[in-house]
Amino acid sequence: MYIRILIFFIVNFIVFYFYLVISSYGYNVYRSNFMSLLNQESYDVIRVLIDSGYIKDRIDLKGSNISLRYSLKKYPSIYQGSNNLFNFLSIVYNYPYLDYYYSENKYYINFEDISDVLVLSNDFIEYKNRKYRGIMRIIFKDHKYYLINYVSLEDYLKAVVPSEMPYTWSIEALKAQAIAARTYAIKMMLTRRSKNEIFDVYSTVLDQAYYGIDYEKDTTNLAVDSTKGMILVFNNEPIWALYHSNCGGFTIDGYLPFAKTVSKEDYYLSSVKCYYPGNTWVSKISLYEIKDLLKKYTKREVYSINSISVNSFKTTFIYQTVNNTFVNYSIYNWELRKLLNYRIKSPFIDKVSIEKDWVIFEGKGNGHGVGMCQYGANYMAKAGYSYVQILNHYYPNSVLINLTDYFSKK
Ligand SMILES: [Zn+2]
Repeated sequence: MYIRILIFFIVNFIVFYFYLVISSYGYNVYRSNFMSLLNQESYDVIRVLIDSGYIKDRIDLKGSNISLRYSLKKYPSIYQGSNNLFNFLSIVYNYPYLDYYYSENKYYINFEDISDVLVLSNDFIEYKNRKYRGIMRIIFKDHKYYLINYVSLEDYLKAVVPSEMPYTWSIEALKAQAIAARTYAIKMMLTRRSKNEIFDVYSTVLDQAYYGIDYEKDTTNLAVDSTKGMILVFNNEPIWALYHSNCGGFTIDGYLPFAKTVSKEDYYLSSVKCYYPGNTWVSKISLYEIKDLLKKYTKREVYSINSISVNSFKTTFIYQTVNNTFVNYSIYNWELRKLLNYRIKSPFIDKVSIEKDWVIFEGKGNGHGVGMCQYGANYMAKAGYSYVQILNHYYPNSVLINLTDYFSKK
Protein backbone atom coordinates (compact mmCIF):
# COMPACT_ATOMS: atom_id res chain seq x y z
CA MET A 1 0.00 0.00 0.00
CA TYR A 2 2.69 2.50 1.04
CA ILE A 3 4.78 1.40 -1.92
CA ARG A 4 1.84 2.10 -4.25
CA ILE A 5 1.45 5.58 -2.80
CA LEU A 6 5.19 6.11 -3.07
CA ILE A 7 5.18 4.99 -6.73
CA PHE A 8 2.17 7.25 -7.36
CA PHE A 9 4.09 10.24 -6.00
CA ILE A 10 7.24 9.33 -7.87
CA VAL A 11 5.33 8.99 -11.17
CA ASN A 12 3.55 12.27 -10.53
CA PHE A 13 6.81 13.94 -9.69
CA ILE A 14 8.39 12.70 -12.94
CA VAL A 15 5.38 13.85 -15.00
CA PHE A 16 5.42 17.22 -13.26
CA TYR A 17 9.18 17.50 -13.74
CA PHE A 18 8.87 16.87 -17.49
CA TYR A 19 6.03 19.32 -17.69
CA LEU A 20 8.30 21.92 -16.09
CA VAL A 21 11.17 21.13 -18.45
CA ILE A 22 8.95 21.37 -21.52
CA SER A 23 7.17 24.49 -20.37
CA SER A 24 10.34 26.27 -19.30
CA TYR A 25 12.08 25.47 -22.57
CA GLY A 26 9.29 25.72 -25.07
CA TYR A 27 6.98 28.09 -23.32
CA ASN A 28 8.91 30.47 -21.12
CA VAL A 29 12.04 30.91 -23.19
CA TYR A 30 10.43 31.21 -26.59
CA ARG A 31 7.05 32.55 -25.66
CA SER A 32 8.25 35.38 -23.45
CA ASN A 33 10.89 36.48 -25.95
CA PHE A 34 8.95 36.06 -29.13
CA MET A 35 5.44 36.96 -28.09
CA SER A 36 6.81 40.35 -27.11
CA LEU A 37 8.29 40.57 -30.61
CA LEU A 38 4.85 40.05 -32.08
CA ASN A 39 3.49 43.01 -30.18
CA GLN A 40 3.07 45.67 -32.83
CA GLU A 41 3.15 48.40 -30.22
CA SER A 42 6.87 47.75 -29.95
CA TYR A 43 8.94 49.89 -32.27
CA ASP A 44 12.09 47.97 -31.24
CA VAL A 45 11.02 45.25 -33.66
CA ILE A 46 10.46 45.77 -37.38
CA ARG A 47 8.43 43.47 -39.65
CA VAL A 48 10.27 42.97 -42.94
CA LEU A 49 8.57 41.31 -45.92
CA ILE A 50 11.13 38.78 -47.19
CA ASP A 51 8.98 37.13 -49.85
CA SER A 52 5.42 36.53 -50.94
CA GLY A 53 3.71 34.40 -53.56
CA TYR A 54 0.85 32.13 -54.41
CA ILE A 55 0.41 29.23 -52.00
CA LYS A 56 1.18 26.58 -54.58
CA ASP A 57 4.83 27.54 -53.99
CA ARG A 58 6.85 25.78 -51.33
CA ILE A 59 8.70 27.60 -48.57
CA ASP A 60 11.97 26.11 -47.33
CA LEU A 61 13.38 27.52 -44.13
CA LYS A 62 16.52 26.17 -42.48
CA GLY A 63 18.43 26.76 -39.28
CA SER A 64 20.99 25.02 -37.13
CA ASN A 65 18.29 23.94 -34.66
CA ILE A 66 15.18 23.85 -36.72
CA SER A 67 14.36 23.26 -40.30
CA LEU A 68 10.79 23.83 -41.31
CA ARG A 69 9.71 22.63 -44.70
CA TYR A 70 6.18 23.08 -45.72
CA SER A 71 4.03 22.56 -48.76
CA LEU A 72 0.32 22.82 -49.22
CA LYS A 73 -0.49 19.21 -49.98
CA LYS A 74 -3.04 17.58 -47.75
CA TYR A 75 -0.50 16.48 -45.14
CA PRO A 76 2.57 18.62 -45.59
CA SER A 77 5.54 17.57 -43.59
CA ILE A 78 7.84 19.40 -41.29
CA TYR A 79 11.38 18.09 -41.21
CA GLN A 80 13.49 18.79 -38.18
CA GLY A 81 17.19 19.30 -38.80
CA SER A 82 18.07 18.27 -35.27
CA ASN A 83 15.07 16.05 -34.54
CA ASN A 84 14.69 18.10 -31.42
CA LEU A 85 11.16 17.83 -30.12
CA PHE A 86 11.47 20.90 -27.92
CA ASN A 87 12.22 23.16 -30.83
CA PHE A 88 9.17 21.87 -32.58
CA LEU A 89 7.03 22.31 -29.47
CA SER A 90 8.00 25.94 -29.31
CA ILE A 91 6.05 26.49 -32.53
CA VAL A 92 3.08 24.57 -31.23
CA TYR A 93 2.99 26.51 -27.99
CA ASN A 94 2.51 29.77 -29.80
CA TYR A 95 0.02 28.23 -32.17
CA PRO A 96 -1.68 25.50 -30.12
CA TYR A 97 -4.34 24.91 -32.75
CA LEU A 98 -1.79 23.29 -35.10
CA ASP A 99 -2.89 19.75 -35.79
CA TYR A 100 0.26 17.63 -35.83
CA TYR A 101 1.58 14.15 -35.29
CA TYR A 102 4.98 12.46 -35.31
CA SER A 103 5.84 9.46 -37.45
CA GLU A 104 9.01 7.90 -38.92
CA ASN A 105 11.25 10.76 -37.78
CA LYS A 106 9.04 13.36 -39.42
CA TYR A 107 6.55 15.76 -37.96
CA TYR A 108 3.37 16.07 -39.94
CA ILE A 109 1.30 19.19 -39.77
CA ASN A 110 -2.03 19.78 -41.34
CA PHE A 111 -1.91 23.32 -42.61
CA GLU A 112 -5.35 23.22 -44.15
CA ASP A 113 -6.98 25.76 -41.89
CA ILE A 114 -3.83 27.49 -40.80
CA SER A 115 -3.52 31.15 -41.54
CA ASP A 116 -0.36 31.83 -39.60
CA VAL A 117 2.86 29.94 -38.75
CA LEU A 118 5.83 31.00 -36.68
CA VAL A 119 9.30 29.61 -37.22
CA LEU A 120 11.80 29.90 -34.39
CA SER A 121 15.48 29.15 -34.20
CA ASN A 122 18.15 29.59 -31.54
CA ASP A 123 20.47 31.55 -33.83
CA PHE A 124 19.32 32.29 -37.38
CA ILE A 125 16.85 31.16 -40.01
CA GLU A 126 17.98 30.60 -43.58
CA TYR A 127 15.77 31.29 -46.59
CA LYS A 128 16.95 31.18 -50.21
CA ASN A 129 20.62 31.11 -49.12
CA ARG A 130 20.29 34.19 -46.91
CA LYS A 131 20.44 34.02 -43.12
CA TYR A 132 18.23 36.19 -40.93
CA ARG A 133 18.15 37.06 -37.24
CA GLY A 134 14.88 37.14 -35.28
CA ILE A 135 11.90 34.96 -36.15
CA MET A 136 9.96 34.19 -39.29
CA ARG A 137 6.23 34.36 -39.58
CA ILE A 138 4.21 33.01 -42.48
CA ILE A 139 0.82 34.63 -42.93
CA PHE A 140 -1.67 33.17 -45.41
CA LYS A 141 -4.05 35.69 -46.92
CA ASP A 142 -6.13 35.81 -50.11
CA HIS A 143 -4.48 32.68 -51.59
CA LYS A 144 -1.05 34.15 -51.00
CA TYR A 145 1.65 33.65 -48.41
CA TYR A 146 3.71 36.41 -46.86
CA LEU A 147 7.05 35.46 -45.30
CA ILE A 148 7.77 38.14 -42.72
CA ASN A 149 10.94 38.50 -40.65
CA TYR A 150 10.39 39.95 -37.17
CA VAL A 151 13.77 41.37 -36.21
CA SER A 152 15.05 44.02 -33.83
CA LEU A 153 15.30 47.42 -35.54
CA GLU A 154 19.01 47.75 -34.73
CA ASP A 155 19.81 44.25 -36.14
CA TYR A 156 17.80 45.11 -39.25
CA LEU A 157 19.88 48.28 -39.72
CA LYS A 158 23.14 46.31 -39.41
CA ALA A 159 22.16 44.42 -42.56
CA VAL A 160 20.66 47.46 -44.33
CA VAL A 161 23.49 49.99 -43.98
CA PRO A 162 26.18 47.89 -45.80
CA SER A 163 23.67 47.13 -48.57
CA GLU A 164 22.86 50.79 -49.06
CA MET A 165 26.39 52.27 -48.74
CA PRO A 166 29.86 50.69 -49.30
CA TYR A 167 31.18 49.61 -45.88
CA THR A 168 34.64 50.92 -46.80
CA TRP A 169 33.42 54.53 -46.81
CA SER A 170 34.21 57.07 -44.05
CA ILE A 171 32.71 56.25 -40.67
CA GLU A 172 30.94 59.64 -40.39
CA ALA A 173 29.16 59.00 -43.71
CA LEU A 174 28.20 55.50 -42.50
CA LYS A 175 26.76 56.99 -39.28
CA ALA A 176 24.73 59.52 -41.32
CA GLN A 177 23.49 56.60 -43.44
CA ALA A 178 22.56 54.57 -40.32
CA ILE A 179 20.44 57.48 -39.00
CA ALA A 180 18.80 58.09 -42.38
CA ALA A 181 17.97 54.36 -42.69
CA ARG A 182 16.64 54.19 -39.09
CA THR A 183 14.48 57.30 -39.62
CA TYR A 184 13.13 55.94 -42.90
CA ALA A 185 12.31 52.61 -41.21
CA ILE A 186 10.46 54.31 -38.32
CA LYS A 187 8.50 56.46 -40.77
CA MET A 188 7.41 53.32 -42.66
CA MET A 189 6.54 51.52 -39.40
CA LEU A 190 4.30 54.41 -38.29
CA THR A 191 2.72 54.73 -41.73
CA ARG A 192 2.01 51.05 -42.44
CA ARG A 193 0.92 50.23 -38.87
CA SER A 194 -1.59 53.11 -38.95
CA LYS A 195 -3.11 51.35 -41.98
CA ASN A 196 -3.04 47.95 -40.21
CA GLU A 197 -0.75 46.42 -42.82
CA ILE A 198 0.86 43.05 -42.05
CA PHE A 199 4.44 44.23 -42.57
CA ASP A 200 6.41 47.47 -42.19
CA VAL A 201 9.00 47.43 -44.97
CA TYR A 202 9.90 45.57 -48.15
CA SER A 203 13.32 43.90 -48.01
CA THR A 204 14.26 45.37 -51.40
CA VAL A 205 15.11 48.80 -52.80
CA LEU A 206 11.35 49.46 -52.85
CA ASP A 207 12.12 50.46 -49.27
CA GLN A 208 15.65 49.60 -48.15
CA ALA A 209 17.84 46.65 -49.22
CA TYR A 210 17.99 44.01 -46.44
CA TYR A 211 19.88 40.83 -47.30
CA GLY A 212 20.55 39.32 -43.86
CA ILE A 213 23.42 38.45 -41.53
CA ASP A 214 26.08 37.70 -44.18
CA TYR A 215 26.03 41.33 -45.30
CA GLU A 216 26.93 42.72 -41.86
CA LYS A 217 30.34 44.38 -41.58
CA ASP A 218 32.32 45.70 -38.58
CA THR A 219 32.40 49.31 -39.83
CA THR A 220 28.67 49.50 -40.50
CA ASN A 221 27.87 47.66 -37.22
CA LEU A 222 29.89 50.36 -35.45
CA ALA A 223 27.97 53.08 -37.33
CA VAL A 224 24.65 51.55 -36.18
CA ASP A 225 25.77 50.91 -32.57
CA SER A 226 27.27 54.37 -32.09
CA THR A 227 24.06 56.08 -33.27
CA LYS A 228 21.70 53.64 -31.50
CA GLY A 229 18.09 54.87 -31.43
CA MET A 230 18.84 58.21 -33.11
CA ILE A 231 16.38 59.56 -35.68
CA LEU A 232 15.65 62.84 -37.46
CA VAL A 233 12.42 64.74 -36.83
CA PHE A 234 10.76 67.82 -38.34
CA ASN A 235 7.78 69.40 -36.52
CA ASN A 236 8.27 66.60 -33.94
CA GLU A 237 7.59 63.84 -36.49
CA PRO A 238 10.11 61.48 -38.12
CA ILE A 239 11.07 62.77 -41.58
CA TRP A 240 10.93 61.02 -44.94
CA ALA A 241 14.68 60.47 -44.86
CA LEU A 242 15.07 59.97 -48.61
CA TYR A 243 18.56 59.40 -49.97
CA HIS A 244 20.16 58.55 -53.29
CA SER A 245 23.54 57.59 -54.75
CA ASN A 246 24.64 60.99 -56.05
CA CYS A 247 22.96 64.20 -57.16
CA GLY A 248 24.16 66.43 -59.96
CA GLY A 249 25.74 69.25 -57.93
CA PHE A 250 22.62 70.10 -55.90
CA THR A 251 19.69 68.10 -54.55
CA ILE A 252 16.09 68.46 -55.77
CA ASP A 253 13.19 69.89 -53.73
CA GLY A 254 11.36 66.79 -52.46
CA TYR A 255 7.83 68.02 -53.25
CA LEU A 256 8.65 68.20 -56.98
CA PRO A 257 9.09 64.46 -57.74
CA PHE A 258 7.27 63.19 -54.62
CA ALA A 259 4.19 65.42 -54.55
CA LYS A 260 2.03 62.61 -53.12
CA THR A 261 4.05 62.21 -49.91
CA VAL A 262 6.09 65.41 -49.54
CA SER A 263 4.57 68.89 -49.20
CA LYS A 264 6.13 72.22 -50.08
CA GLU A 265 6.35 72.94 -46.33
CA ASP A 266 8.58 69.90 -45.70
CA TYR A 267 11.64 72.16 -45.61
CA TYR A 268 13.91 69.31 -44.56
CA LEU A 269 13.84 68.13 -48.19
CA SER A 270 14.72 71.54 -49.65
CA SER A 271 17.24 71.66 -52.47
CA VAL A 272 20.81 72.19 -51.21
CA LYS A 273 24.16 72.64 -52.89
CA CYS A 274 26.37 69.54 -52.97
CA TYR A 275 30.17 69.53 -53.10
CA TYR A 276 30.36 66.28 -55.01
CA PRO A 277 30.12 67.03 -58.74
CA GLY A 278 28.00 63.98 -59.65
CA ASN A 279 28.89 61.05 -61.89
CA THR A 280 28.19 61.64 -65.60
CA TRP A 281 26.19 59.21 -67.70
CA VAL A 282 24.96 58.64 -71.26
CA SER A 283 21.79 56.70 -72.13
CA LYS A 284 20.73 55.63 -75.62
CA ILE A 285 17.00 55.02 -76.11
CA SER A 286 15.59 53.97 -79.48
CA LEU A 287 13.71 56.68 -81.39
CA TYR A 288 10.96 54.17 -82.09
CA GLU A 289 10.41 53.64 -78.35
CA ILE A 290 10.25 57.41 -77.72
CA LYS A 291 7.70 57.82 -80.54
CA ASP A 292 5.66 55.01 -79.05
CA LEU A 293 5.73 56.65 -75.60
CA LEU A 294 4.65 60.03 -77.03
CA LYS A 295 1.84 58.38 -78.97
CA LYS A 296 0.64 56.62 -75.84
CA TYR A 297 0.81 59.66 -73.53
CA THR A 298 -0.42 62.38 -75.88
CA LYS A 299 -2.91 60.13 -77.69
CA ARG A 300 -1.85 61.46 -81.09
CA GLU A 301 -0.08 59.97 -84.07
CA VAL A 302 3.64 60.71 -84.10
CA TYR A 303 4.97 61.05 -87.68
CA SER A 304 8.37 62.48 -86.97
CA ILE A 305 10.17 64.06 -84.03
CA ASN A 306 11.53 67.45 -84.99
CA SER A 307 13.37 68.35 -81.81
CA ILE A 308 14.01 67.32 -78.22
CA SER A 309 15.34 69.85 -75.73
CA VAL A 310 15.86 69.99 -71.99
CA ASN A 311 15.46 72.94 -69.63
CA SER A 312 15.33 72.96 -65.79
CA PHE A 313 14.10 69.38 -65.15
CA LYS A 314 11.77 69.40 -68.15
CA THR A 315 12.25 67.65 -71.47
CA THR A 316 10.31 69.12 -74.42
CA PHE A 317 9.45 67.16 -77.56
CA ILE A 318 8.23 68.83 -80.75
CA TYR A 319 6.76 66.36 -83.19
CA GLN A 320 4.67 66.26 -86.34
CA THR A 321 1.24 64.68 -86.30
CA VAL A 322 -1.74 64.42 -88.71
CA ASN A 323 -2.71 67.34 -91.01
CA ASN A 324 0.80 68.78 -90.98
CA THR A 325 0.37 70.08 -87.44
CA PHE A 326 3.03 70.16 -84.77
CA VAL A 327 2.72 69.18 -81.12
CA ASN A 328 4.83 70.64 -78.33
CA TYR A 329 4.91 68.23 -75.36
CA SER A 330 6.85 68.74 -72.11
CA ILE A 331 7.39 66.24 -69.33
CA TYR A 332 9.25 66.45 -66.02
CA ASN A 333 12.50 64.48 -66.10
CA TRP A 334 11.52 62.35 -63.07
CA GLU A 335 8.33 61.32 -64.90
CA LEU A 336 10.26 60.57 -68.08
CA ARG A 337 12.77 58.56 -66.02
CA LYS A 338 9.94 56.44 -64.60
CA LEU A 339 8.37 55.91 -68.07
CA LEU A 340 11.76 54.75 -69.39
CA ASN A 341 12.13 52.25 -66.53
CA TYR A 342 14.99 54.18 -64.90
CA ARG A 343 17.29 53.71 -67.91
CA ILE A 344 17.92 57.45 -67.49
CA LYS A 345 20.05 57.46 -64.33
CA SER A 346 18.90 60.78 -62.85
CA PRO A 347 16.61 63.78 -63.50
CA PHE A 348 19.74 65.90 -64.17
CA ILE A 349 19.69 65.74 -67.97
CA ASP A 350 22.19 68.18 -69.50
CA LYS A 351 21.77 67.41 -73.18
CA VAL A 352 19.50 65.46 -75.54
CA SER A 353 20.25 64.73 -79.17
CA ILE A 354 18.87 62.54 -81.98
CA GLU A 355 21.36 60.41 -83.88
CA LYS A 356 19.82 58.27 -86.61
CA ASP A 357 17.46 55.84 -84.83
CA TRP A 358 18.60 56.76 -81.33
CA VAL A 359 17.89 59.45 -78.78
CA ILE A 360 21.01 60.19 -76.71
CA PHE A 361 20.49 61.53 -73.19
CA GLU A 362 23.50 62.90 -71.30
CA GLY A 363 23.44 63.93 -67.67
CA LYS A 364 24.91 63.58 -64.22
CA GLY A 365 24.04 62.01 -60.86
CA ASN A 366 22.46 58.67 -60.00
CA GLY A 367 19.06 58.29 -58.35
CA HIS A 368 16.09 60.57 -57.66
CA GLY A 369 18.24 63.42 -56.31
CA VAL A 370 16.13 64.12 -53.18
CA GLY A 371 17.49 64.23 -49.61
CA MET A 372 20.94 62.94 -48.72
CA CYS A 373 23.41 62.50 -51.57
CA GLN A 374 25.48 59.49 -50.47
CA TYR A 375 28.61 60.33 -52.49
CA GLY A 376 28.28 63.90 -51.21
CA ALA A 377 28.00 62.62 -47.62
CA ASN A 378 31.23 60.61 -48.03
CA TYR A 379 32.87 63.63 -49.69
CA MET A 380 31.97 65.77 -46.64
CA ALA A 381 33.11 63.03 -44.20
CA LYS A 382 36.51 62.82 -45.92
CA ALA A 383 36.78 66.61 -45.65
CA GLY A 384 36.37 66.32 -41.86
CA TYR A 385 32.66 66.96 -41.35
CA SER A 386 30.80 64.96 -38.66
CA TYR A 387 27.65 62.91 -39.24
CA VAL A 388 25.65 65.66 -37.49
CA GLN A 389 26.96 68.27 -39.94
CA ILE A 390 26.31 65.96 -42.91
CA LEU A 391 22.69 65.34 -41.81
CA ASN A 392 22.13 69.05 -41.09
CA HIS A 393 23.37 69.82 -44.59
CA TYR A 394 21.22 67.35 -46.54
CA TYR A 395 18.14 67.47 -44.29
CA PRO A 396 18.07 71.18 -43.38
CA ASN A 397 15.73 72.19 -40.51
CA SER A 398 15.52 68.62 -39.17
CA VAL A 399 16.44 67.78 -35.56
CA LEU A 400 18.28 64.71 -34.21
CA ILE A 401 16.51 63.03 -31.28
CA ASN A 402 16.39 59.64 -29.60
CA LEU A 403 13.53 57.24 -30.34
CA THR A 404 12.72 56.86 -26.63
CA ASP A 405 12.27 60.64 -26.37
CA TYR A 406 10.07 60.65 -29.46
CA PHE A 407 7.79 57.89 -28.15
CA SER A 408 7.69 59.26 -24.58
CA LYS A 409 6.20 62.51 -25.94
CA LYS A 410 3.48 60.64 -27.86
ZN1 LIG B 1 25.60 65.28 -54.43
